[in-house]
Formats: sequence, C-alpha cells, structure tokens
Amino acid sequence: MSTFQDLGLNDHLLQAITDLGFTKPSEVQEKAIPILLESETDLVALAQTGTGKTAAFGFPMLEKINIDSRTTQGLILSPTRELCLQITNEMKQYGKYCKGLNVVAIYGGSSITDQAREVKRGAQIIVATPGRMKDMIKRRLVDISKIEYAVLDEADEMLNMGFYEDITDILSHTPEDKSTWLFSATMPKEVATIAKKFMKSPKEITVGNKNESTNQVSHEYYLVNARDRYQALKRLSDANPDIFSVVFCRTKRDTQKVAEKLIEDGYSAGALHGDLSQNQRDLVMKSFRNKQIQTLVATDVAARGIDVDDITHVINYQLPDEPEVYTHRSGRTGRAGKTGVSMVIVSKSEVRKIKGIERIIKKQFEKKEIPDGAEICE
Ligand code: ADP
Ligand code: MG
Repeated sequence: MSTFQDLGLNDHLLQAITDLGFTKPSEVQEKAIPILLESETDLVALAQTGTGKTAAFGFPMLEKINIDSRTTQGLILSPTRELCLQITNEMKQYGKYCKGLNVVAIYGGSSITDQAREVKRGAQIIVATPGRMKDMIKRRLVDISKIEYAVLDEADEMLNMGFYEDITDILSHTPEDKSTWLFSATMPKEVATIAKKFMKSPKEITVGNKNESTNQVSHEYYLVNARDRYQALKRLSDANPDIFSVVFCRTKRDTQKVAEKLIEDGYSAGALHGDLSQNQRDLVMKSFRNKQIQTLVATDVAARGIDVDDITHVINYQLPDEPEVYTHRSGRTGRAGKTGVSMVIVSKSEVRKIKGIERIIKKQFEKKEIPDGAEICE
C-alpha cells in the first residue's frame, strides 16, 4: 500500500492533501497518478462513482503545469454545471499552496462575460461543460490552442447527454500532441469510440470488479413452479409493456420453443441460436436493433458480444450452469450509463444457485413476486 509521497507528488500538493485529511491514495489514484506523472501518455481510466477520480487526474495536472505561465495548459470537460463547479472547487483546494494558480469554471446559465473576464486574467486550468465551452471558443473568448492536458471526466455521462459533437468540436481546437485523459464509470460503445478517435494508444486502468463497474443493473429473482416458467415470462413481459429484452435459455431447442410460443401468443419476439443460418441470425439481430422486435430469445453462445444499447431487461428463463455466465448475461443491460434489470425465473430446486451468483457479482438479489401470479409462485 503506497502513500501520496510514494506516488511522487510535490510538497505543495502533499501539504494540501494533509489539510484535506486524505491519508492514503484510493485505488484509482494509486494506479493513475504514477502513470500520468511518469510519462506523457493518453489514459483511459474506468472507476465507479465515488472512487476519487478527480484527484486521480487533478494531482498530476497540478504537478505538471507551469504555474509561472498564464497560458491555459489544462482543460477538464465535465457533463454538468454542478460537477464543473465541484471539480473547480476541488482543484482549488488541491492547489491551494500552488502560488499563482488560477482555475476557472466555464458553464452555462451564468454570465459569459464574467467567465470571459476571469479567463482573460490568465487561467492555467479551465474546467468546463461542453456547451458553454464550445460557445466561448466560437466567440474567441478563450484560447485552448496551447493546452497540454485534456481531461474527459465522466465521459460516459457526457456522451449520454449528447455532447459528442461538442466534444469533437472543442478538441479540434486543441493541439495534436497534447495528452488526453479519459475518466469514466462505465465503458459503453460510445466511450470506446471516442477513445479510439481522440487518443493515441492510451494506457488503460480499471478499478474494482469490471462487471460491477461497467453497468448499473438491479438483480431480481422470481420463485415459481418449474412448469410455470413460461407463464411467468409472459406475465413479466405484460407487466413491462415497454420492455426491450433479451431472454436467455439454456439450449437451442428451448430458445426456439420459447420464441415460437411467444410469437404464437402475440408477443413481439425472435430467436437467436446456433441452428439458424447466418442470414437468419443477421435478420433477427437487425430487427432487434431497429426495435421491430421487443424480445430476443437467445442462447449464451449466440448472444455473446451482442452490443445493443437500451436493453431494459435481461430475463434468465433458466439459469446458466456457471455463475460467471450470469455476469455476461446481465451485462447486456444497464449500458451507456442507463439502468437495467436482470430477472431470474427460478424453481425451488435451483434457487440455491442465486447465492453463488451473489458472491460473484458482489450484489444482492431482490426476491420478487410475479405480478398477478400468486397461483404460479412457490
Ligand atoms: P469520483 O469522481 O470518482 O466520483 P470524487 O473525485 O468526486 O470521486 O471523490 C469522491 C470523494 O472522495 C470526494 O469527497 C473526495 O474529496 C474524496 N476523496 C478523494 N480521494 C480521497 C482519498 N485518497 N482519501 C479520502 N477521501 C478522498
Ligand atoms: Mg467524478
């Protein structure tokens, strides 16, 4: 276990850290700070909310910028004005013994002239929301052509909020040879895309359980009589009319059977398994992506790597043999910062498997009742 001193921070920062009462670095700080201090590299860091990401990029940035210069050298983009203000405040606290440091917050809903005046006084670090930042660049109220460090904080949230274009625009006004540090709680496709587009072979760090940190899923189980599985599935679907789900079965045969029954009963469903031709599979996937079908019934193998956003529910029609497989299933929902629900339909003889899964996912299941289903519940 290292200390902040071991990480190589200067005395001004160490003093501020002591004042703040931070006794030891958090995991993301322990991993990110040495990398960022030692080299001019791009970095992708994945860590959940509350793990201390601000200091993980804040300390290295403060260590690296030249405070004797008034040039803007660091730019931190963050999704909301609240976060923007929070980061600015933290940066000021971290840098309180760095004489001459000026950190300026730029965000919407507040006077642009006041913010421009503050920038003009010379801000080594700007913390900004994308919308206002873009605006200020357009009006030439800010110059980021000499920045050396760009941070995309809460990257998943920013992309979720539709800031892709703004970020692209902002970064086009920064030098090619800067370092870009991306921090995110989750790694949806959009974040991977942006990392690929704007970063040069970034180093990567992940903190905590990957499955846990990459999605926000609640887990529920429904105890029913084994013969009532299909009834349970229908009622769960009925109770969630806007459902956009993947239903997992154990075998290709069950997968086909459940999908056929659902279609017969008037549900918008399709099957995905290895006995279908590539062409059939492509067609099903296409309709699912276009939301022409609401429920995709699939085997684990066929559904591997499915990357469809907005899946609201994963339904385990049957549990997999391996608890690890469950994490792959439940990871299909709760992507791109959205929440999702992973439901398990389980009979008495399998219910003990839930405990094993809880150990793996480090989360508790909630036991729930099938809606309007007293007669089919155990
Ligand atoms: P994140 O950005 O990962 O959500 P923050 O950077 O906002 O997390 O930090 C969460 C809280 O933890 C803040 O109140 C911060 O001051 C505190 N914190 C950060 N690093 C440490 C540390 N090493 N020791 C104690 N508290 C810390
Ligand atoms: Mg944060």
